[in-house]
Amino acid sequence: MTQDARQTRPVMKPYVAAIHAYVPGKSADADGKPLVKLSANENPLGTSPMALAALAGGSAPSAYPDPDSKELRAALGELHQIDPARIVCGTGSDELLNLIPQAYAGLGDEVVFSRYSFAVYDIAARRCGATPVEVADKDYAADVDGLLAAVTQRTRVVFLANPNNPTGTYLPRAEVERLHAGLPADVLLVIDQAYAEYLPQGVDDGGLALAERHENVLVTRTFSKIYGLAGERIGWATGADHLIDALNRIRGPFNVTLGGQKAALAGLADQAFVRASRDHNATTRMAFVAALDMLGNHGLRVVPSEANFVLVLFEGHLSAETAMQAIAGAGYAVRHLPGQGLPQALRITIGTAQQMAQIAAVLRQACEAAQ
Ligand SMILES: *Cc1c(COP(=O)(O)O)cnc(C)c1O
Repeated sequence: MTQDARQTRPVMKPYVAAIHAYVPGKSADADGKPLVKLSANENPLGTSPMALAALAGGSAPSAYPDPDSKELRAALGELHQIDPARIVCGTGSDELLNLIPQAYAGLGDEVVFSRYSFAVYDIAARRCGATPVEVADKDYAADVDGLLAAVTQRTRVVFLANPNNPTGTYLPRAEVERLHAGLPADVLLVIDQAYAEYLPQGVDDGGLALAERHENVLVTRTFSKIYGLAGERIGWATGADHLIDALNRIRGPFNVTLGGQKAALAGLADQAFVRASRDHNATTRMAFVAALDMLGNHGLRVVPSEANFVLVLFEGHLSAETAMQAIAGAGYAVRHLPGQGLPQALRITIGTAQQMAQIAAVLRQACEAAQ
């Protein structure tokens, strides 16, 4: 090749250039005024005091952490009745969600997921050159028949968030099993259970059982949501040995920090905090939804949620944008997702009872003003 044929600077891969970078939840208004963040599904109760104590406990940061998160995997295995060898930890579940298509898909392959699901799936598919295939939802929830119909010879991975973000919808066990049963054996089903701990006690979509029994199912979980450790970046996945092996080959060698491993371990031991967070969320979400249901005559509709947030649809005079401005005026950041095809909706994280009562009151006023 002659010198002339060379480019004048490094050239981004076209499939990377096609990626829209992830847009995180806001914590300030347009003028930079700080807002209470109900835009990132963080735990309003904060973090388990035991996890905080572990973080403050200080060990020498000059040493690398355990590259295999052994103690943490052992504790996860004990809590969830999983062989620790079938668990891999990640820098948040984000790291693992991104690695999965990289291990199983590439140029010409397809990665299938529902419309209105987690924005990371599209990025994870594109960054390894695979084609994201977005399937129409059914009332804002995943449509099993639609997902199955979208599977082709080229499909390598199917992502399902359950409960789903940003809609909060939940696919019951029978539907998840039906989805799995309809997939070819060489298609990997990824069940992203970031919000599983918010389900009522005893309710379970069966993902962990599928991951235990089948060769083509991975379940991902995170310490970012109910455990209140989003800042420490700890997630994990479980599935068949060969799936865990693939992720171990390509993950960062020291991907969970020293503090993260200690905090996660202490957080796991504090299931009372997890229960308190789940109970708080259920009670507060129910009251918030009841308050918004009374604004149904103004065109507000709440998508049924099993998560720590609700998606509110604005189908009357009051637009989602105007509502968001009114909520910001009261000091809160919520999530508007026009880039994900939801210009008519706001995703609102369940905060404290007082915060949610205030937001409901602001929305009532805004509805009346918009008439
Ligand atoms: C928040 C969230 C995650 C968690 O990401 P982390 O990297 O573990 O913080 C994963 N999946 C979904 C659907 C989420 O909403």
